[in-house]
Amino acid sequence: ITSKLPSVKTTIFTSIGQLAKKYNAINLSQGFPNFNPDFVLLDKVTKAMQNGYNQYAPMAGDINLRETISHKIQTLYNQNYNPETEITITAGATQAIFTAITAFVSLGDEVIVIKPAYDSYEPSIIANGGIPVHVSLSAKTYKIDWDVFKSKITSKTKMVIINTPHNPTGTILTKEDMQSLEKILFNTNIIVLSDEVYEHIIFDNEIHQSVARFNNLANRSIICSSFGKTFHITGWKIGYCVGPKELMNEFRKTHQFNVFSTHHPSQIALTSYLQNEETYNSLPTFYQKKRDFFVKELEGSKFKILPCKGTYFQLLDYSNITQEQDVSFAERLIKEHKIASIPISVFNENNRDDKVLRFCFAKTEDILLKASEILNKL
Ligand code: PMP
Ligand code: GLN
Repeated sequence: ITSKLPSVKTTIFTSIGQLAKKYNAINLSQGFPNFNPDFVLLDKVTKAMQNGYNQYAPMAGDINLRETISHKIQTLYNQNYNPETEITITAGATQAIFTAITAFVSLGDEVIVIKPAYDSYEPSIIANGGIPVHVSLSAKTYKIDWDVFKSKITSKTKMVIINTPHNPTGTILTKEDMQSLEKILFNTNIIVLSDEVYEHIIFDNEIHQSVARFNNLANRSIICSSFGKTFHITGWKIGYCVGPKELMNEFRKTHQFNVFSTHHPSQIALTSYLQNEETYNSLPTFYQKKRDFFVKELEGSKFKILPCKGTYFQLLDYSNITQEQDVSFAERLIKEHKIASIPISVFNENNRDDKVLRFCFAKTEDILLKASEILNKL
């Protein structure tokens, strides 16, 4: 057979995860919490099941959940999304991203992808006949050069994908970044796919610059978010996307034949859980404490600690320890030191090696402590 995705291998999350298991390593690679979600939320799902919400949800999702999301976005980002026509509940952000790309990208369309990038964007573009066009963030500082970004736009550019807070670097886009994007896209028909799955995991009193805050971006954007990140339930695979009616209408044409609808009892549970704003407003403090704990424990180590403004990933620069390629160093750390991380080169353009590894700190302090003890010895 002719592969549609000839250069795609098993994802780094699977391959590193398997290696971590084999060597019984502390696993700070794939991003997921090692602690339970709030039992209040779990009780709500059980009750939803007992109360009979065990059949298909409406195609776009439970209307009460969509109304609650609309209210949240209005309150946080001052943008109005009509729950009937402009919000869809998805099976996590991965499905939302694939569905959005499938809905809008056709053969020969160019899509601007900022590298390093979350690994699902590119195969989704290529599977739909699109052409990824890369813009690389500067090594180790991970900033966008908007002049370079602008120079990549052509008459074939159909979509640009942005991600803030950013996986894997932990950087965030500023208001000035968003204004630059807004200006560059003005008078074009380019669609923005804005991956905001870490919207509530942001530190140091920074403000999440959702595209929803910027009218001239919101009117051309599909925004994806994920309850997996926000409520420590990555295994539930539930999230949502929002966008103006014309875009959402096209999105749903694909969504309905992709999954049709998603897990119904969790939607009922999340509706009432989300009404308590504290459930998501507490996240910056919660995760900042973990970031600060991990970073403090590493202060005496040979690693250079790169700034982390959001997400639950800490980048560590190991260039004072070895000049080894990041993939081989990450493998050696698993096999010889029993600690797993993600090498950044796998997300970079041409596998640029920044000598940087990504560590997930969505873990209990005992695990972060054990991890730092290992890392401090290197
Ligand atoms: N985008 C980014 C940047 C992510 O880090 C993730 C989760 N790893 C996703 C999308 C996918 O989210 P979900 O688990 O809801 O599919
Ligand atoms: N978002 C997670 C991460 O970046 C991984 C999700 C996945 O395994 N696809 O670690």
